[in-house]
Amino acid sequence: MPAAPSSPPLALTTNIALLPGVGDKRAPAFRKLGLRCVADLLLHMPFRYEHEHAEQTIAEAGALIGPHHNAEANIATRGEVATCRPGRTKRQPYEATLHDGTGTMQLLWFNSPWMKKKLHPGEHIRVWGTGKRHGDYLQMVNPKFDHYDPAPAPGSEPAPAARRDRLAPVYPASEQVTSETIEQVIETILDEALKLVEEHYDEAFRTKLALPRLDEAYRMVHHPATEDGAKAGRRRLAFDELMLLQLGVMMKRHHRREDLKAIALAWNEPIDVHIRARFPFELTKAQSDVIAEIAADLQSERPMNRLLQGDVGAGKTVVALYAMLMAVAARHQAALMAPTELLAEQHFASITEMLAGSNVRIELLTGSLKKARRPEILDRLANGDIDILIGTHALLTETVAFKSLAVAVADEQHRFGVHQRVTLRAKAADPSSCPHMLVMTATPIPRTMSLTVFGDLDISTIRDLPPGRQRIITKYVPQAEADKVYEFVRQRLDAGEQAYIVVPVIEESDSGLKDIQSHYDRLSRGPLAGKRLAAVHGRLKRDEREAIMNAFRGSEIDALIATTVIEVGVDVPNATLMVIEHADRFGLAQLHQLRGRVGRGSRQSLCVLIADPVTDDGRARVEAIVKTTDGFEIAEKDLELRGPGELFGTRQSGLPPFRVASLPADLALLRLARKEAKAWIDANPLLVGERDAILKRRLLKAHGESLGLGDVA
Ligand code: ADP
Ligand code: MG
Repeated sequence: MPAAPSSPPLALTTNIALLPGVGDKRAPAFRKLGLRCVADLLLHMPFRYEHEHAEQTIAEAGALIGPHHNAEANIATRGEVATCRPGRTKRQPYEATLHDGTGTMQLLWFNSPWMKKKLHPGEHIRVWGTGKRHGDYLQMVNPKFDHYDPAPAPGSEPAPAARRDRLAPVYPASEQVTSETIEQVIETILDEALKLVEEHYDEAFRTKLALPRLDEAYRMVHHPATEDGAKAGRRRLAFDELMLLQLGVMMKRHHRREDLKAIALAWNEPIDVHIRARFPFELTKAQSDVIAEIAADLQSERPMNRLLQGDVGAGKTVVALYAMLMAVAARHQAALMAPTELLAEQHFASITEMLAGSNVRIELLTGSLKKARRPEILDRLANGDIDILIGTHALLTETVAFKSLAVAVADEQHRFGVHQRVTLRAKAADPSSCPHMLVMTATPIPRTMSLTVFGDLDISTIRDLPPGRQRIITKYVPQAEADKVYEFVRQRLDAGEQAYIVVPVIEESDSGLKDIQSHYDRLSRGPLAGKRLAAVHGRLKRDEREAIMNAFRGSEIDALIATTVIEVGVDVPNATLMVIEHADRFGLAQLHQLRGRVGRGSRQSLCVLIADPVTDDGRARVEAIVKTTDGFEIAEKDLELRGPGELFGTRQSGLPPFRVASLPADLALLRLARKEAKAWIDANPLLVGERDAILKRRLLKAHGESLGLGDVA
């Protein structure tokens, strides 16, 4: 017989398909669970542990359970299947008896027609689960089991050893790959794999923070001696994840603050008076306060990196405009980037209006700009003949070069990834110079997020709305009463108010969801007949869209049937009604944004959610939005419902999701990591030297790209 081919030595990168118990056939099912290589297995965290009792004879198990009817205990035993009896009706369980020479036990499986094929008299099985005394005999209901060979031929697999008393990990699993299978595979590689795990902290650091060694931590998680041990292992692994992210964030912060220079802008009373004179209203105290924070940053050569958060309608745009005008006053340039063309166009329109009669030169640059105009605008931009450039992501393309970009503003930050911010920063002509960045969001960032994804930002918050606003009334109405809603809408339109009607899809589909065209047709023939209606969505040409929005703004259109293109930024104070069809289909932040399109004037506004929610989540979202208009509360609720991975463009930002840490549950650990990372980077900003070599390698691997650390480290 030829010798078995010796397998290559195990590496942390060894493909899952090469592992014993997996193979090419089962590998795809493992990959579906995110398990591609040995390292993935190590990082596959059990979500709980089950206390398993040591295996016993049936007689011992009976003694453990006790003599009383209905008494129960967790047990494990093994023996030969004596009889099998399938249930005669669907309700009846599959019944088997097991004996081992010391006693007999009845096994019942309910709702398990497939048991017929899995279990036969004469077979030997191990069973485990809850054992119960039922009258005179012992019983197990739906126990787990596996087969074994009681008298294996020499050379073949021996009968499995008796179970020990232990904590069994329960892994996230699938139908094809059970938790037990994952456990077995991990078991086969654990010892060898742990020899390959390199430590990246020294002992003093680990002792200070009570962290076990990295290889120990993995063992404690997969092979715990106690629940406390499992927790301590998990804590170390979660800390590592948070620490790596914080090191990346702190490294960037350090680089920005120490290595990059921005243009220091003058700020004094004449400038302040001059800028304020441009606005058609008095700024609120909340706005003046954040302007003071921003202006303080802009006066320094240290590049600003500030997040301006304030609820929808809080008046962030003028604050941003103030900052941009500080750049213009000093004869430098400013840029404003919006997530949609619609919003860019609107900013362009409203800022042009506010600055009418001044010398400020403003241009709009978006993807749908006429080809011929583009070179001309780029030319003037490079020559410094444009003061403020407004646009979409198109501002990020390589060919866009400023003469002297001092302030860059990104509106509705949650739509942008971290990566895009990096590109905008790189737009300054001189690599060591970089614009002051202001990012704005109407989706307040929960604490946990502000410490992670946006950990490099200073935060300013506008808490109050401009004066004279009334609270928006929000109502939830089932589909069956939609007609009444439109009847009411009609009355308000008759009285000169305006409405948005939002549907989830543009085109008719078999989803059963209302689409723009059919809904438009239905409303214009039925409840809103005779009213001036228009449809807007993302596939309209810019000219058409602009014409429609301008007509709506000028009250020449009574109601807009729209998709979520109007979600952010659209600002028409006379619009007082927001109707959202299939409201349960939208995310919480989205609903809040949509609602924020009304309530922008002094009139009482109303938001109606039409929905027959089918999922618990859908219902929870609709309920949450009815309950509060406070964006901060909504953001926290959203985090709770969706989990942090989904929020704030963390997906688009390319930040890898956490595999071990879980927020907000690990908030305290996150704070600790932040503090330690800051101290670490202060002491060794570029992580040079042998001590930090492994750490640095891991950091670049995990976050180098998503955080743009390439130009730093
Ligand atoms: P958001 O914070 O949602 O971007 P906007 O900047 O669009 O809010 O402002 C919402 C509305 O409030 C706009 O119509 C704007 O002109 C108006 N506004 C902003 N600040 C004030 C103020 N201090 N007084 C009165 N109206 C204001
Ligand atoms: Mg806005």
